[in-house]
Amino acid sequence: MSRLVFLGPPGVGKGTQAVGLAQDEGIPHISTGAILRDALSRGTPTGLEAKKFMDAGELVPDEVVLRLVKDRLSEDDAAQGWLLDGYPRNLDQASALSGILSQMDQSLDHVIYFECAESELVRRLSGRRTCRACGDTFHVEFAPVAENNSCKAGGSCDIYQRSDDQEDAILNRLKVYQRETGPLVEHYREKGHLIVLDGSAPIEIVGSALRDALDQTG
Ligand code: AMP
Repeated sequence: MSRLVFLGPPGVGKGTQAVGLAQDEGIPHISTGAILRDALSRGTPTGLEAKKFMDAGELVPDEVVLRLVKDRLSEDDAAQGWLLDGYPRNLDQASALSGILSQMDQSLDHVIYFECAESELVRRLSGRRTCRACGDTFHVEFAPVAENNSCKAGGSCDIYQRSDDQEDAILNRLKVYQRETGPLVEHYREKGHLIVLDGSAPIEIVGSALRDALDQTG
């Protein structure tokens, strides 16, 4: 059983690692960014409220995201463990999470922090492309879409560039990350929860470092 938080700047690859690990561990991968994008594409009131913040690379108000996280953690499939990706993103969210967990009589096992230099993050994010239908991500340079690429949702992938993967929004997201999310590294280090990984390494290397670190900590 694992209760994990993945922490790191946008573009560090934590979503990719989260998908694989959650599958291996049989726990739900809870990405607040993905939940918000889904709400937006369905045109729900929450999605519409979040849109202007997301487009600008700003954080969506804490109370909106807290509601989503609380509901998701209460679902049956999260009773035995979960992997939170993109939450918490500031100190207030971290204390809200610890409040929810104590109400649910649960505790956090580890916070995995993926580190990476900013220049590499910009390169990764500005080339990132996403499929509207299945949510898979590609990269114009490192992982281009294959010809006749088939989509998990059927047909071929419908590729677009997220509005928050455009240059101005990227630079703002990185600024917001440093200011709001950066302090969580020390916060969780002090609590003894932190595992630090080099997020600039290739996907497979990061994946095996992640599994080794979790095996060693139990
Ligand atoms: P992500 O896919 O994690 O990069 O998230 C995309 C966008 O969703 C972020 O830039 C924020 O606007 C919003 N978002 C995701 N998670 C959170 C969160 N925990 N708190 C506030 N906003 C969030």
